[in-house]
Amino acid sequence: MPAYDFLVVGAGFYGTVFAYHAASAGKKCLVIDKRKHIGGNAFCETRSSITVHKYGPHVFHTNDEKVWRFITRFADFNNFVNSPLARFGDEIYNMPFNMNTFNKLWGVVTPKEAKEKIERQTRPYRDNIPTNLEEKALSLVGPDIYEKFIKGYTEKQWGRPCRELPASLINRLPLRFNYNNNYFNDRYQGVPIGGYNGIFEKLLKNCELRLDTDYFLIKNPFSIADKVVYTGMLDEYFGCRFGVLEYRTIDFVTEEVDVDNFQGNAVVNYTDAETPYTRIVEHKHFEFGAQPTTVITKEYPLEWQVGREPLYPVGDEKNSALCRRYRELAEKESRVIFGGRLAEYRYYNMDQVVAGAIAAAEKELSL
Ligand code: UDP
Repeated sequence: MPAYDFLVVGAGFYGTVFAYHAASAGKKCLVIDKRKHIGGNAFCETRSSITVHKYGPHVFHTNDEKVWRFITRFADFNNFVNSPLARFGDEIYNMPFNMNTFNKLWGVVTPKEAKEKIERQTRPYRDNIPTNLEEKALSLVGPDIYEKFIKGYTEKQWGRPCRELPASLINRLPLRFNYNNNYFNDRYQGVPIGGYNGIFEKLLKNCELRLDTDYFLIKNPFSIADKVVYTGMLDEYFGCRFGVLEYRTIDFVTEEVDVDNFQGNAVVNYTDAETPYTRIVEHKHFEFGAQPTTVITKEYPLEWQVGREPLYPVGDEKNSALCRRYRELAEKESRVIFGGRLAEYRYYNMDQVVAGAIAAAEKELSL
């Protein structure tokens, strides 16, 4: 008989939330991760007393009360509200696109004026059903906003022309006719004080953990556990037999700067095409830090290749079609649960991953 009920591959949100529920139900779980740390891409490091989000800014936000009640059992969350800025040359604009943005861009003051302006900007593009990101952006916000804030940023981020990207990518970018700079529309939002690592330590309290352990070097996983919870790359699980799925990754270049406040905000997006990075993150602002120095990270997006962390699934047509073929295979694996951003190949937020793991655990454990 295998020693464990579950072998959980990956110690990020999906794996640890699943393992927590399984262990709480009396199941034996072995959690492995090929990295040397837990927490997946939410892992944090401390530098000069500042919590650094090592793999990009992680602001937890959700509309799902169940998820919020669950996650806040494992950490104290502060009241941080994500209000990124867009920098174009030396001009600073508020995000998401709202009355502050429209006022600075066009001098309009009232929502009525802004709506009329957007109406005129989008009129030539609204008749056709958008088939790609560029057409969708033009039909939603018009050429001024598209050229200044979307085109350059998006093409740097995804390494592909906006005309080849799916329209759905910018569903994440709200358009507002009020002066609210909160990037998210969700009811709950915050950052765990001191970073995310404590959450994962608590989630894993009753599980066995092996870091620096590659799943693909385990000869027969089902001699170790009855079931596998797999959160790694979907194509890799199947030996990339149909071809490789593409991912974007980021070169995070982090430095300590000898000033107390570098940019006055946690996230500044560089939306022009010329600046090689997409954004600068100044980590102390996530926790309203008053340290004497600061730590900043410039994000340089690039195509994923072996040896780097796959961060974003590319949702274009080619990859979506390939992904469907792998999902068909995954459905046939009765002893494997596939979950999370990489194994489902979906551009999930943290709360969606947590919700997915809770649902899978409830189903699996009949909770
Ligand atoms: N985006 C943009 N300009 C910006 C910020 C975002 O055009 O200043 C677009 C871009 O296509 C990006 C998408 O919106 O990929 C989602 O951005 P978000 O900030 O939600 O991405 P994440 O924080 O997950 O990297």
